[in-house]
Amino acid sequence: MSVDALAGAAYIVAALLFILSLAGLSRHESARAGVTYGIAGMTIALLATLALTVADAWGGAGAMLGLTLLGVGVLVGAAIGLWRAKVVQMTEMPQLIALLHSFVGIAAVLVGWNGHLTHAEIPAQLVDIHNAEVFIGIFIGGVTFTGSIVAYLKLAARISSRPLMLPGKNLLNVGALVLFVVLTVWFVLDQQLWLLIAVTLLSFALGWHLVASIGGGDMPVVVSMLNSYSGWAAAAAGFLLNNDLLIVTGALVGSSGAYLSYIMCKAMNRSFLSVIAGGFGIVASASDDEDYGEHREVTAEAAAGMLSGAKTVVITPGYGMAVAQAQYPVADLVARLRERGVDVRFGIHPVAGRLPGHMNVLLAEAKVPYDIVLSMEEVNDDLAATSVVLVIGANDTVNPAAAEDPGSPIAGMPVLRVWEAENVIVFKRSMAAGYAGVQNPLFFRENTQMLFGDAKERVEDIIRAL
Ligand code: NDP
Repeated sequence: MSVDALAGAAYIVAALLFILSLAGLSRHESARAGVTYGIAGMTIALLATLALTVADAWGGAGAMLGLTLLGVGVLVGAAIGLWRAKVVQMTEMPQLIALLHSFVGIAAVLVGWNGHLTHAEIPAQLVDIHNAEVFIGIFIGGVTFTGSIVAYLKLAARISSRPLMLPGKNLLNVGALVLFVVLTVWFVLDQQLWLLIAVTLLSFALGWHLVASIGGGDMPVVVSMLNSYSGWAAAAAGFLLNNDLLIVTGALVGSSGAYLSYIMCKAMNRSFLSVIAGGFGIVASASDDEDYGEHREVTAEAAAGMLSGAKTVVITPGYGMAVAQAQYPVADLVARLRERGVDVRFGIHPVAGRLPGHMNVLLAEAKVPYDIVLSMEEVNDDLAATSVVLVIGANDTVNPAAAEDPGSPIAGMPVLRVWEAENVIVFKRSMAAGYAGVQNPLFFRENTQMLFGDAKERVEDIIRAL
């Protein structure tokens, strides 16, 4: 059997493994198996591609040089990847993913340029399609590349997470799309090099502008949307390279990313179109100079007293719990309260932390039993009958303004209605705003008390006082 036929068969097996992987990842019981399928599929795909490349190059001019460069590239890339995966903190995961998407984007741009410059032999009736593929591949890749870099910079807090508000920004986006269509037609009719340079620059500018216009609260959707874009960029590269597996895999990533973005938008009550169109319809919020009144503080000892006298306690963790690595003392506190007969549960907001499922992973790590970890929908109606809610390093996800103030930048986002509980204790270090950059009126409510300081230290103080 020829290497081509073998590689074709291996590609089909790999594609099936990728589909099984996606299916496995959708439930936590089967997630581990899903990851294993994914790794197996990727290993088979890499080996088959390597075999094809070696078979193609064997004996040709410059073959050894090409293969050596390939080997060095793979080794250096794999070493950097292994090192990053080992040292990355859970809280830095979204920005790492965004950065990886930018690589897919720039790879698609380079494949597009290569597809034009190498003048591969293409049957006459397919030349127009080839030229359109080059153009579209570069465009999607370019948007993914700069969009992912802006997402990385925002998530890593290297630039402000506030939305950029250029005048006529929607017109700019629509104008860029129209210009892209015009340039594509032009390029198919007449392959001028300056057209490729123009579409590359246009896509870079559009990607930058699209993501820069999106505010902090919508960033989870942006990461999954860029995931989708990177899939389409890979599929476009697959058409150019005539590689079926890349087309299938790209389409899987593209469509699952788009679907996840859609689900997240529904969970956050955001319009899907408005987010993918780069913050379409987001109105600049007036600077927040409202007087919310005074906040009240509580000591760890007093908090311990409230907790031991409570019948029911709900804990709503957020990004601050992850930063402080407070999940271990929190698990300890929960075990002690349960021993004393207090009914303790967790309420997890779908976008608490910095990526979906972030809090569930941390709590599982600290061996908190699954059955007391509930979703926002499961716990929200019980909050009014709860004696004490502990808000540990969460902010936007418990902000009443989302439910009560139609002018708030996070208006309409479903939140945990913690303010309905009898008592609320908020663990944070200062009165600073959360990720979306909006003030939280919860901190000034009658039934809320602030417990300032590092979440881990304060929880340990409470355990000592108990
Ligand atoms: P927020 O970012 O709204 O708030 C976290 C709070 O933790 C801050 O107010 C901060 O206050 C506090 N904090 C930080 N460090 C510590 C510490 N060491 N000890 C105690 N408190 C600390 O978090 P939420 O989880 O409530 O909300 C998530 C936000 O992130 C949402 O806006 C969401 O849209 C966005 N997002 C979510 C993603 C996801 O998929 N989950 C992905 C990307 C963004 P202080 O500085 O005063 O201590």
